[in-house]
Amino acid sequence: MHYIILDLEWNQASEKQIDPVSQTQPELHFEIIEIGAVKVDTAGNVLGEFSELIHPVVYPHLFERIRDVVKITEEELLHARSFKEVWEDFIAWCGNDYRFCTWGSMDLTELQRNVDFYDLENPFPLPLLYYDIQKLYSLAFEDGKTRRALDYAVHSLVLPEENAFHRALADAYYTWMVMDALNMDSLQTMVSIDYHRPPRERKEEIYLKFGTYSKFVSRVFPTKEDAMLDKNVNSTVCYQCGHAAKKKIRWFSNAGRYYFSLSYCPSHGWLKGKIRMKKAEDGSGVFAVKILKLVDEASALKIYQKKQEIQTKRKLKQHSESL
Ligand SMILES: [Zn+2]
Repeated sequence: MHYIILDLEWNQASEKQIDPVSQTQPELHFEIIEIGAVKVDTAGNVLGEFSELIHPVVYPHLFERIRDVVKITEEELLHARSFKEVWEDFIAWCGNDYRFCTWGSMDLTELQRNVDFYDLENPFPLPLLYYDIQKLYSLAFEDGKTRRALDYAVHSLVLPEENAFHRALADAYYTWMVMDALNMDSLQTMVSIDYHRPPRERKEEIYLKFGTYSKFVSRVFPTKEDAMLDKNVNSTVCYQCGHAAKKKIRWFSNAGRYYFSLSYCPSHGWLKGKIRMKKAEDGSGVFAVKILKLVDEASALKIYQKKQEIQTKRKLKQHSESL
């Protein structure tokens, strides 16, 4: 296996291109104009690089803000090859056994949206797992939640800055340098899942076990209520021993996208459940991302309190409506 550290530059609609009547813009919001990538083996040796501009067709003119940041001219793009040609070369260059690494979660999503837009084949494996180096940087050096710009991370780690930021290949190299500064051995379990193509069938559903929690991604259901009726979604199996932990508080929600539960494993104690409902990009429905985490007594109590709060609010609302 090798790592492909990927970075993209894209262009978008200017205000002029948004139809003033319907307020709509072309189907593709971000048109990729450059792909840059570095291939690295797991020992940290750089094996090669990929860098190419793409001739834009949806937005031939660069949006002012993009033009100011990205040092690419419209003249250069005029002579570039099409997305299809560059994509096919890029995929061939990636090889068969790779894991993507990107700064943040957007690049893989936008890349696949461009692929869909041109009706091209998407050969990425399912599930598409990747390392979000921006997240790993935060986990290693900050609170795990803050998200920093790439140049911030490079400055703070005092890494050599030989090239300007905001060109795809340069940013891919900078992302690699940040990654190289992390202890990937300890972060290897912190893999991210790309949700552009969620599971469609039961056999495609995703089960991942991390050090201190487990993650499950369900297939797509028409509604969140349908999803919650599914046993794979609502089960609370202890990820340490594989036994069904008995529910002490059944799944409840605050009428939003989140559901919570509390179960008890006789061998491992309190198991907190959290489900986030995500919309499938193609509008076909929702899928559940369930996290189960063994927690201490204090955290278990918080779930109980959360449920009480929601019930109290609901009662107050019903009361005020009945007045
Ligand atoms: Zn257990």
